[in-house]
Amino acid sequence: MSTLEIRELQVSVKLPEGDLKPILAGVDLTVKSGETHAIMGPNGSGKSTLAYSIAGHPKYQITGGTVTLDGDDVLAMTVDERARAGLFLAMQYPVEVPGVSVANFLRTAKTAIDGEAPKLRTWAGELRSAMEKLQMDPAFAQRNVNEGFSGGEKKRHEIMQLQLLKPKIAILDETDSGLDIDALRVVSEGVNRVRETGETGLLLITHYTRILRYIKPDYVHVFVAGKIVQEGGPELAEQLEAEGYERYVAARA
Ligand code: ADP
Ligand code: MG
Ligand code: MG
Repeated sequence: MSTLEIRELQVSVKLPEGDLKPILAGVDLTVKSGETHAIMGPNGSGKSTLAYSIAGHPKYQITGGTVTLDGDDVLAMTVDERARAGLFLAMQYPVEVPGVSVANFLRTAKTAIDGEAPKLRTWAGELRSAMEKLQMDPAFAQRNVNEGFSGGEKKRHEIMQLQLLKPKIAILDETDSGLDIDALRVVSEGVNRVRETGETGLLLITHYTRILRYIKPDYVHVFVAGKIVQEGGPELAEQLEAEGYERYVAARA
């Protein structure tokens, strides 16, 4: 059992001129392995900032609060240490990794996280099975990471990582964006398989409700202007689908 605990998190983005622009205004959130949480909010509310801050992106400066994983200070860890500690962060705009194949990338990541290389034969089988379940061409494993990937391929690659790396806590930022309905279903099924292991805590960040038709969150958090303004169960997602975010945004004006 693992617990990611975010307390009173305040974050500013570093602007090119060196100024700090406050974005997160005190976020409190606890995610345990086996739980699925959805963070939903309008564009520009700071959802990606939350994901990037937990990932350790240098553009974001923590100005207050704490983030711990099983009591260990995540904010004091390097980006690599965060991954080794069991945090998985799929970013909204994944980067290209020139000259590194998907197969090598995944094996290197797995080795870094486990502290030893996976056994070649079982690993090859796991890789093949993960790709089959995501309806991916085996040739995909030989392509360079994110190079010329379509939106759907990027997302499938994310879910492949999730299935193979088996993180304690995974944060998926806008995993549903840019997916057609078939790709959305395949990707959601992949997330649900990870969920069913009960070993990973999932934090799904999304603007739209449609992915939540396929992945039923245990908890929904409404995120507006840098903080959580309401929390509830899956019924809250349905209410948001019907009513949108206006009510929350208007309440702040
Ligand atoms: P969301 O993911 O909810 O759409 P973001 O975290 O991407 O929101 O952005 C939150 C706010 O922070 C927005 O107002 C955005 O313009 C601002 N912001 C984020 N990154 C930067 C940046 N690098 N420079 C300037 N403003 C930024
Ligand atoms: Mg955005
Ligand atoms: Mg975003």
